Amino acid sequence: MNETRTTCPYCGVGCGVVVSVEGEKVSVRGDERHPANFGRLCVKGSALGETTGLQGRLLHPVVDGQDVEWPQALSAAGERLREIIDTWGPQAVAFYASGQLLTEDYYAANKLMKGFIGAANIDTNSRLCMSSAVVGYKRAFGEDLVPCSYEDVENSDLVVL
Ligand code: SF4
Repeated sequence: MNETRTTCPYCGVGCGVVVSVEGEKVSVRGDERHPANFGRLCVKGSALGETTGLQGRLLHPVVDGQDVEWPQALSAAGERLREIIDTWGPQAVAFYASGQLLTEDYYAANKLMKGFIGAANIDTNSRLCMSSAVVGYKRAFGEDLVPCSYEDVENSDLVVL
């Protein structure tokens, strides 16, 4: 069995996970040595192993139901985007990007939308993911901050959710 220590990719808690590969079977458990989670995982992290299968994944670019090479797929996407913008204007398109993009990826996506397409219609899952927490923190504590670690919860006499 091959084991790798890594980080859950889903949210900013950054839980440590141990990924085990045995033949084609991939399983994931919490990393007991990791300071963010001490072996625990939420339901999303616990199900990470189930996301590694190839069943149901799109493995090649497909245009109109046909497998194509990447250059053809990119041209088709670019042409359609151009067509929409020429017909309806830049406000007719929007990007909904991943919350897991790196800073450089965000820059490239924002540059494309704001610098080249000419609209400000870009947002990411990060806003939805954190907006409820931000509202809660502001109401409870007066500002947006992450107020405690998991150890604080264990040492608390009372936890209000
Ligand atoms: S296991 Fe859950 S809490 Fe931990 S990083 Fe992943 S999504 Fe976030």
